Amino acid sequence: MTPIPRSVSIFGATGSIGESTFDLLMRAGGPDAFRTVALTGARNVARLAEMARALRAEVAVTADPACLPALRDALAGSGVEAAAGEAALIEAADRPADWVMSAIVGFAGLAPGLAALRHGRTLALANKESLVTAGPLLMETAKAHGARILPVDSEHSAVFQALAGEEIAAVERIIITASGGAFRDWPLERLAGATVAQASTHPNWAMGQRITIDSASMFNKALEVIETREYFGVPPEMIEVLVHPESLVHAMVGFRDGALMAHLGAPDMRHAIGYALNWPERGHLPVARLDLAQIGRLSFAAPDPARYPALTLAREVMAIRGLAGAVFNAAKEAALDGFIAGQIPFPAMAGVVEEVLARMSAQTGLGIATISLDNLQGADREARGLAGAVIASARM
Ligand code: NDP
Ligand code: MG
Repeated sequence: MTPIPRSVSIFGATGSIGESTFDLLMRAGGPDAFRTVALTGARNVARLAEMARALRAEVAVTADPACLPALRDALAGSGVEAAAGEAALIEAADRPADWVMSAIVGFAGLAPGLAALRHGRTLALANKESLVTAGPLLMETAKAHGARILPVDSEHSAVFQALAGEEIAAVERIIITASGGAFRDWPLERLAGATVAQASTHPNWAMGQRITIDSASMFNKALEVIETREYFGVPPEMIEVLVHPESLVHAMVGFRDGALMAHLGAPDMRHAIGYALNWPERGHLPVARLDLAQIGRLSFAAPDPARYPALTLAREVMAIRGLAGAVFNAAKEAALDGFIAGQIPFPAMAGVVEEVLARMSAQTGLGIATISLDNLQGADREARGLAGAVIASARM
């Protein structure tokens, strides 16, 4: 049996996933049970310092160099090192830790995750953008260095659990569920007037603001379809999305004998995080137990492509592969910034991403075979720039 990890790092400790991970570590004994190597955050240095003190981390890193003096002040006398910037994040990922949580939001999470994999660590992967932008690179790096990636996204953790003891060759289909987000029941014509506050309210899950808005647009599910393709290596046509408003069934795996294995649980990320933390064992986790008699019924529906155009775009990305995932993710992030800043209405986000994908694949042909951190960063920058231009022209 594999022992519970002795040394851990959390990248993105101050975020929603980071806080849940911290909570589990503290409940499991905190500094008495784990040696915490690195904790990282960006702007919220007060909380980062608090967590680093509580877990007696070796080093606390803020991604933002301007926040370093504040972090140093907050850590004064604690014995925790303070560092800042992208290079410091990589340096933190180079430090030996058995189990590394990758929970930075966005493309910024990729480089530290890759660094941890190069050292053969177990990477608990919440940062879905890593798989979407660089799936083959991530999986090959893990393989080459004997590292392991454990999925933390709830749907992927559910699939992973449904697959325990099974052969991927016996799988016929993978179904990931979606709540349908904040606007599931809105008339389509009202979406153009949706506000940021309205889009930032999730019916079932408490998450960071960006992923909550991505749930309303289903860009989050689009990322997850690609994530499923990259992590489990199944062809796109085997992956289905099902709207399930209760968010209790997280995913289902269909086998060639017709069996469908469903994973159910309360919508609480501490389940998926805790599963990755205790894997291959199951630990006791502080998540609510489902009372199905009380819940009574579960409902399912096919997603409406007119309401959720992001799902169609995900199919295009999977058909192209190469740099398409990086372009899709970057254009999506830029479109989301545009929506949050009030520059474009909610339904225009999909149009921006579609246009950036179309223009960039016409110009450069995104389906190249070999991706590297360098060409991904280039594609990311170019797609953000182009999305900015598309947004600006849409405003004129
Ligand atoms: P949050 O926005 O809550 O937290 C993001 C974390 O990343 C914070 O620690 C933040 O620091 C840090 N951060 C922000 N920008 C940068 C940057 N440029 N460089 C380095 N660090 C940065 O996100 P979530 O916790 O919601 O999500 C984290 C990841 O997990 C995402 O990839 C998301 O898609 C995925 N995920 C999240 C789920 C959820 O339930 N929340 C579910 C499934 C997947 P600070 O706050 O100090 O500024
Ligand atoms: Mg998810």
